Amino acid sequence: MPDHVPQVTRFAPSPNGRLHLGHALSAIIAHDLARESGGRFVLRIEDIDGPRSRPDLADEFRRDLEWLGLEWDEVPAQSTRLASYGAAAERLRAAGVLFACTCTRKAIEAAGAAEGSDGLIYPGTCKHTPPDPALPAAWRLDSARALALTGPLVWEDALAGAQAVDLSGLGDVVLVRKDLPASYHLAVTLDDAADGVTLVTRGADLFGASHVHRLLQALLGLPTPRWHHHRLLLDPGGEKLAKRRGSPALAQRREAGEDGQMLARQLRLQHLSLGT
Ligand code: GLU
Ligand code: ZN
Repeated sequence: MPDHVPQVTRFAPSPNGRLHLGHALSAIIAHDLARESGGRFVLRIEDIDGPRSRPDLADEFRRDLEWLGLEWDEVPAQSTRLASYGAAAERLRAAGVLFACTCTRKAIEAAGAAEGSDGLIYPGTCKHTPPDPALPAAWRLDSARALALTGPLVWEDALAGAQAVDLSGLGDVVLVRKDLPASYHLAVTLDDAADGVTLVTRGADLFGASHVHRLLQALLGLPTPRWHHHRLLLDPGGEKLAKRRGSPALAQRREAGEDGQMLARQLRLQHLSLGT
């Protein structure tokens, strides 16, 4: 990437759990890529997850990033953008690429859904037999119909190179949840456009999601950024670091008096040695 082009990057944590080392690495990479290019680094709080979102955690995130020595330019919050998600969903519905789905997780399992790259692939139940409109429904993307509208698409990952949009690993994902005016996929795509993000940096665990986001950009006429999916830090047992497996929160290390800038330096070195 030519570093004379200012890049806008973002770190987009969800305030439903504390930040751990993997988040620190993502934030550092996004921050450094923006700063090296003379661009902007956006801290976006992905707080639409209803009661699971905790405002106190968003404050904690700011203290964690400060402790790591990172400075950000703006802090948009998803909860202020619900109307834009609803409007985009309406456009997609009008274009005929969404269908209502009332299936529960259990029903999807019972229908013999195949395992995809990020959980079960929706077996198409409600696409073939439209559900009772009186029931609460999620809205799914009819990915075959959507791709037929847009034609073949590609997106560019800084490390993995050009990728042809391929939804076979994800299927007809949810774009509007039963309980919210958006899902992760819809909100993040609209937000990256609203924030002027030119380089989407995040962990390789979200690589597959970029196929959906590229398709949504084409459907909604949004600009296409580039992506940078970085390798994930692994714990000493070779497993992905995750909050659930009890890796220590950044806040715990900060409160214990550890030097955050030193930790950031170590993470930068570790990242260099991963080759990404
Ligand atoms: N809010 C998402 C998460 O915490 C980040 C998604 C993204 O970077 O696209 O996993
Ligand atoms: Zn369904």
